[in-house]
Amino acid sequence: MGTIAWIGLGLMGRPMSNQMRNAGYMVRGLDIDKEACRQASALGITISNSTAVACADADAVFTMLPAGPDVKQVLTAKDGAFANARKGAIVVDCSTIGVAYARELHDAADKAGATFFEAPVSGGTEGARDGTLTFMTGGDERHAARVTELLKPIGDYIAYVGGRGAGQAAKIVNNLIMGVCVTVNCEATELAKRLGLDLNAFFEIVLRSSGDNWSFRLWNPGPGVVPDAPASHGYKAGFKTWLLAKDLHLALEAGRGVGANIATAEAAHAVLAAHAKAGGADLDATSLVLALAKQRASEQRVAAGGPRG
Ligand code: NAD
Repeated sequence: MGTIAWIGLGLMGRPMSNQMRNAGYMVRGLDIDKEACRQASALGITISNSTAVACADADAVFTMLPAGPDVKQVLTAKDGAFANARKGAIVVDCSTIGVAYARELHDAADKAGATFFEAPVSGGTEGARDGTLTFMTGGDERHAARVTELLKPIGDYIAYVGGRGAGQAAKIVNNLIMGVCVTVNCEATELAKRLGLDLNAFFEIVLRSSGDNWSFRLWNPGPGVVPDAPASHGYKAGFKTWLLAKDLHLALEAGRGVGANIATAEAAHAVLAAHAKAGGADLDATSLVLALAKQRASEQRVAAGGPRG
């Protein structure tokens, strides 16, 4: 199948690169975090000690990194992928970095004589594990079929959205919807608790009612309601709060750029950003429900005449 380099072996990158390995690719992986490397190595991924080494004989280079600045650094540094990928290799970024970074990286690739494509994903760690992700690709059309073929082991639905920035545009608008849903699911769960509802019974009702949504079903904020959900595992990510706040921030920036009114996303961003700042950054985003419950405890103490806190 050939050789690929995979940079960023975190919650998404590890299972995604492993799917590529299962499909028969020789995978050279890299991460700045030793534990991420150790876990990837245990799956059978060969760990490289520099981007240049990982890229040297790769037919394709993938990045799955937290945010735009990380991807820019890994791709455009002297020892980065654009300068060191072999001629004819394609560099595919699967991270969520927003439209502006994507366009900047297409331009940087042109200057370096490299080939770059956007392929942000949706489907969470569950989709990465099962190889059932949705990809929203963007870039010059002549490379679209090749990228689609490459992504087949990890994607159920691979959409070529359009030219430079289009893949990221689709991704951040999707995550605007999902980020608002996650936030409101947490608020709804806390409200349901305050009204004395049983969260398991309420879940079954919502599944059959108009409040149903993807993140409520897969990432339900109530502990024990969905066995696989982060809430049932101490709110270990999953989808980190700070990454979801980042995605909403990207959507807000893009929205401002075109004069769109996205007030609901602005409110959700403020709530998630405050939760990240208060210590929830690396927990799953549904841990917001813990902060909302804490507010209740604090209110109850105040009502009983005790100290706030
Ligand atoms: P993560 O934090 O678990 O993984 C990111 C990894 O990148 C970490 O292991 C980190 O050490 C590594 N890294 C950071 N800088 C690096 C560098 N310079 N060189 C090499 N490695 C570096 O995050 P994740 O959940 O895997 O998300 C990755 C991207 O995918 C983000 O853009 C996120 O928004 C997006 N995304 C996440 C999900 C999800 O459910 N977690 C779903 C869709 C998209």
